[in-house]
Amino acid sequence: MELNPNQVRLMMLQVADAIIAAEPMLSQADRDLGDGDHGLGMKRGMEAVKAQLEKLDPASVEQVFVTTGTAMMTSMGGASGAIFGTVYRAGGKALAGRPAFDPEGLALLLEAALEGVMKRGGAKPGDKTMIDAVAPAATKARESLALPLNEAIQAVAAAAEAGKEASKDMIAQFGRAKTLGEACLGFPDAGACSVVIMLNTMRDYVTQS
Ligand code: ADP
Ligand code: MG
Repeated sequence: MELNPNQVRLMMLQVADAIIAAEPMLSQADRDLGDGDHGLGMKRGMEAVKAQLEKLDPASVEQVFVTTGTAMMTSMGGASGAIFGTVYRAGGKALAGRPAFDPEGLALLLEAALEGVMKRGGAKPGDKTMIDAVAPAATKARESLALPLNEAIQAVAAAAEAGKEASKDMIAQFGRAKTLGEACLGFPDAGACSVVIMLNTMRDYVTQS
């Protein structure tokens, strides 16, 4: 089982709708860590993504993800615009030449996203950022190459969720939450919450189709 470029486009439109619907929850998650703009930033980014993807007749899987990342990067601004823009731009470029989205594509996407974000923002696993959801997801994707796509993405989404939960026990080293010190214990990182919503929605799309 694999997705063609148009199915990837439809999947990403579903992801955009899920993030927009989760805006209040994402805003609250960021507020718990002393800030509060994450939900609105992601919502703005995903509205820009929808505007681009709704009119796209995709020639490749790469193009869908790179278009997503460029729309986020140019519409959101701030730390998360660069971070989430890099996820999809770097992740998408790693899929160049691949005709369909399959378990190996999922692993390549997540590994390149992780590498790109770490290079761009300087954070590493354990710093209480979205990396703490992406890193275990990338590892699980690489371990799931022999599974059908629906099972691989289910395992990957569960790994991201576990990573998000683990971020509750971390002290933030980046962003505004950094100033909180131990006061941020018990709350998950907001960007990790976004990663979980994205992967859960991809899982739901793949399971339905
Ligand atoms: P801002 O930090 O500008 O307020 P947002 O609130 O939209 O931006 O996004 C914050 C999220 O961005 C954090 O929860 C974290 O997951 C992610 N983030 C911030 N800085 C980094 C970084 N250097 N590396 C990876 N992720 C980061
Ligand atoms: Mg914020």
